[in-house]
Amino acid sequence: MKNSYSVKSKLALLVVIFFTYFGFSQNNDQEQIKKLYDAALTQGKGYDWLNYLSNQIGGRLSGSVQAQQAVNYTKSQLDSLGLDKVWLQPVMVPKWVRGTPEFAYFETTPGTTTNVAICALGGSVATPSNGIKANIIEVNGVEELATLGKGKIQGKIVFFNKPMDPTQINTFNAYSNCVDQRYSGALEASKYGALGVIVRSMNLRLDDFPHTGSMGYGEQPIDNRIPAAAISTNAADLLSTSLLLNPEINFYFKQNCKQFEDVESYNVIGEIRGSSKPEEIIVVGGHLDSWDLGDGSHDDGAGCVQSMEVLNLFKKIGYKPKRTIRVVLFMNEENGLRGGTKYAEVANATNEKHIFALESDSGGFTPRGFTFDSSNKDFDKIKSWKPLFEPYLVHYFEKGESGADIGPLKKEGLILAGLRPDSQRYFDYHHAENDTFEHVNKRELELGSASMASLIYLVDTYGF
Ligand SMILES: [Zn+2]
Repeated sequence: MKNSYSVKSKLALLVVIFFTYFGFSQNNDQEQIKKLYDAALTQGKGYDWLNYLSNQIGGRLSGSVQAQQAVNYTKSQLDSLGLDKVWLQPVMVPKWVRGTPEFAYFETTPGTTTNVAICALGGSVATPSNGIKANIIEVNGVEELATLGKGKIQGKIVFFNKPMDPTQINTFNAYSNCVDQRYSGALEASKYGALGVIVRSMNLRLDDFPHTGSMGYGEQPIDNRIPAAAISTNAADLLSTSLLLNPEINFYFKQNCKQFEDVESYNVIGEIRGSSKPEEIIVVGGHLDSWDLGDGSHDDGAGCVQSMEVLNLFKKIGYKPKRTIRVVLFMNEENGLRGGTKYAEVANATNEKHIFALESDSGGFTPRGFTFDSSNKDFDKIKSWKPLFEPYLVHYFEKGESGADIGPLKKEGLILAGLRPDSQRYFDYHHAENDTFEHVNKRELELGSASMASLIYLVDTYGF
């Protein structure tokens, strides 16, 4: 009897310890996460950092003076956070400049012209100095070129007018489904003798802002390259309607962009060294470069300041991570991905052990959740944290893509993740003149920072 009683009481004690421990642990996580959200919403620095990046520096195209100013500014701000280490990682980046603003019109009858909002695509060659004027032919995507063939395309300007699909709820899917016409439209159309290409902006709404973005010629000899530009969605609709009435329309455009030799730039990096497992590195980051038309507030100033904020919030609530938490502001995502590539190269060469990397590069909108590129086993563990985020209306935990800059780090055992904000308005601003500070909402930005910090806190606490 005595023995049996003793066993029972020991069991009871174990049960009590079990529930106390796990109950406490869960309460503790809830408390820490609440502290992170509270701190983000009351003591966050991200919005002020973004204000400076956007309004004092502006668009930060790789190789520009502004990109260098952004490197200096973010380094100085990381220096001021009292991190264990802050440094610059050199990387060679392409330097493409737009030159004087582009100009375009279409001509329905000789002398009857309508001006068109236009911008050169990043990486495009210029037009001849007096521009190009030719018949323009509309196609609904790259696939249609082969149907028309050289007979219909030779000597003309090709107008790629495949719109983003409005029925896609995740607007990034709509983007993926037609961005090939922007990226490789010029290369493909030149094979059929086109003189230039005009692309409908990657934008779900109708407005007058042309959206730039990267394009490439592959290995095509320089002499065969044809210029590429985007026109606004309003202009694309007007041109398309006008072509229905008169298929013989002439289109004129002139652009003055130029590619220079590569120049040196930097990834900006800072870290809090882990207290008990410093060799295990958790990365959080965004890209510091942007396109030149707006000031890159959503893409990706927001992701940069949110990533910096993760470390700031840990300091603010007095959280000392077990593992090393590192913020990386990658240079040159937009037109080269050189920063992300260099970071992974150095990490591999020095045998650093990265266990988790999180990128924010989908705009500073209300956070909805995260996507994870991980094994099923690790994803099951991550999913068990989901209830901790539900009070903050962050509920989207799915497997999926992470972010372009952390992509090159991908290897067995490393989990990649992306912050997933609401995507409905992202393409209103993406790569356009209106991607500016006033279109970022302070609270939405801060909720994103807090969500990222909370996820990083859990990864640090429980590891993989
Ligand atoms: Zn971006």
